[in-house]
Amino acid sequence: MIPSPKSIVVLTGAGISAESGIKTFRAADGLWENHPIDDVATPEGFERNPSLVYEFYNQRRRQLLSDQVKPNAAHSHLAKFEHEFPGQFLLVTQNVDNLHERAGSQNLVHMHGELLKMRCLNSQLVFDIAKDFDFDTHCRCCRSPGNLRPHIVWFGEMPFQMNKINQALENCDVFVAIGTSGNVYPASGFYQTAKIRRAHTTELNLERTGSGFDECIIGSASDIVPTYFEKLLNAC
Ligand code: NAD
Repeated sequence: MIPSPKSIVVLTGAGISAESGIKTFRAADGLWENHPIDDVATPEGFERNPSLVYEFYNQRRRQLLSDQVKPNAAHSHLAKFEHEFPGQFLLVTQNVDNLHERAGSQNLVHMHGELLKMRCLNSQLVFDIAKDFDFDTHCRCCRSPGNLRPHIVWFGEMPFQMNKINQALENCDVFVAIGTSGNVYPASGFYQTAKIRRAHTTELNLERTGSGFDECIIGSASDIVPTYFEKLLNAC
């Protein structure tokens, strides 16, 4: 842990939401909730079988909005840290759930999109959506069906806000990755970008991912995130 950090970037992955009841991605042999990722998380999968893809994200959205899914201690301690930390703070999440914002996080980038948003394929306008939608849903801008897709970054597509993320990584002195397997590019390379400017890099995960972090803390996110960020705040 470095003393008096001035700028911190935190990257979160599916592991931070696991204890909130949302399954991780690779945990079940490369399947996402029993579906091969090629079927539900690629533009080609959407072209092949749009009904399956709409239904997959409709189910994820219903689950997210159910009473059983709530932010856990890791989400809420990150939000608390952001409020109390006197320096620059950016939270980048690969997660498409809304548990960070529900916990109170503010400076947050959803680099892989959001379950509670849909996008018009004609205008690229983005709309909030809390209900199911599919091919037959009328677009709010075009007023015709067939133009809406989940506002999710699929494999082969460019993640959102990469300029903002890279700028923060190049200027941070602490980088922390929480609950991410390091299998999905470009997030898997963020710790290396942070290291170019000699940031201290830490991984918090249930298991070591094999990457070259300076420090690795093993445990469940709801245990180790509160302790780690409490210590980091005391070091400021
Ligand atoms: P991943 O599923 O590939 O890896 C999850 C990581 O979290 C693993 O390294 C695992 O060891 C760790 N983990 C599991 N439970 C944990 C816990 N309780 N505490 C700490 N760590 C724990 O996740 P990824 O790297 O984020 O990549 C998955 C991709 O799939 C992302 O792009 C994301 O968009 C999508 N996805 C999102 C969600 C979500 O929004 N909650 C859920 C599943 C998948």
